[in-house]
Amino acid sequence: LNRRLAEFGTTIFAEMSALAAATGAINLGQGFPDTDGPEEVREAAVRALRDGRGNQYPPGPGVPELRTAIADHQRRRYGLSFDPDTEVLVTAGATEAIAATLLALLEPGDEVVALEPYYDSYAACIAMAGATRVPVTLRPDPEQARFRLDLDELRDAVTGRTRLLLINTPHNPTGTVLTREELTAIAELAVERDLLVVTDEVYEHLVFDEAEHVPLATLPGMRERTVTIGSSGKTFSFTGWKVGWVTAAPGLVTAVRSAKQFLTYVSSGPFQYAVAEALALPDSYFADFRADMRVKRDLLAAGLADAGFAVFRPAGTYFVTTDIRPLGESDGFAFCRSLPERAGVVAIPNAVFYDHREEGAPFVRFAFCKRVSVLEEAATRLKALA
Ligand code: PMP
Ligand code: GLN
Repeated sequence: LNRRLAEFGTTIFAEMSALAAATGAINLGQGFPDTDGPEEVREAAVRALRDGRGNQYPPGPGVPELRTAIADHQRRRYGLSFDPDTEVLVTAGATEAIAATLLALLEPGDEVVALEPYYDSYAACIAMAGATRVPVTLRPDPEQARFRLDLDELRDAVTGRTRLLLINTPHNPTGTVLTREELTAIAELAVERDLLVVTDEVYEHLVFDEAEHVPLATLPGMRERTVTIGSSGKTFSFTGWKVGWVTAAPGLVTAVRSAKQFLTYVSSGPFQYAVAEALALPDSYFADFRADMRVKRDLLAAGLADAGFAVFRPAGTYFVTTDIRPLGESDGFAFCRSLPERAGVVAIPNAVFYDHREEGAPFVRFAFCKRVSVLEEAATRLKALA
């Protein structure tokens, strides 16, 4: 393994899912639903396979039906208009979108300012591009209600070498949804310093209560300098299909496509047709999905609080971040390694998402995209810790 990748080892998700399999513990670590997405969307995939749509190499940018559906979705939900031919690119999940975007846009030595804790592939892709990550740490606000971005720290992190800002909202793992004010400040900074912004919005449909998902590309000055990343895995509960996308101005999409063509060349065909149908589902699908996840959030958050964790009630995503210090613990890694034995549950130590590991040490993430019965059983088991 080369020096760029040596520090990353095996992803925490593989490690913790293997631990769950080996111990029989309930896996609230890796974020994937334990119920598949809509039947009619699965049927659409079967139809595409049977009808021979996408069984041979589909077009490099993605099948036209899906690019059009992505553009329609962005227009319908956010009033953003993208040309399906020049401003939309289908990728092998958001993971490839992140990799292709960073490999396409970064020069060796460039700096990327990213919100810490960050999704683990960001750091690895920045490293593969030979660039340097500059983390800006989200910290619990004084009321401990949510993890917050310090806008002064963000501004201070930008230097003459900064090429782009890498944003994620709703935010994995903290569950924070950046507010319009925070995003406006990010947009103003990007315009002032002439930066590109890559924004990972894969949890766009998972926002709860009063929280609102504001796509960065809707803010003044951002349409031309933003690469927005989305994924069908989260919104439709098909994480195994690996259909993601990028929307951006033509020059940026062309650049990302240049990298994508040498990563996967094209993305898997039949699922693209099915996701095109999924994106056209009525608004009620999205509302029901959100309502279902909100119930699950409340259930797991209450269970964790009962078990003695300090809980950061997430405004978005399907993750709850907790602080384990009220349990008399301080090392999330050690805690997560012992949790299967102590309580029959698997969780993720947030420290893996930090460069400043000490900042993340006491935080542990639990996924709630699971059946109610599974969450209830996990809550019962976790009470053993109290
Ligand atoms: N970004 C974030 C913030 C995520 O949580 C995930 C989920 N693994 C991804 C990207 C990757 O999405 P996909 O499964 O579509 O590659
Ligand atoms: N996004 C999911 C998570 O954060 C799954 C990640 C993965 O398996 N790479 O848990």
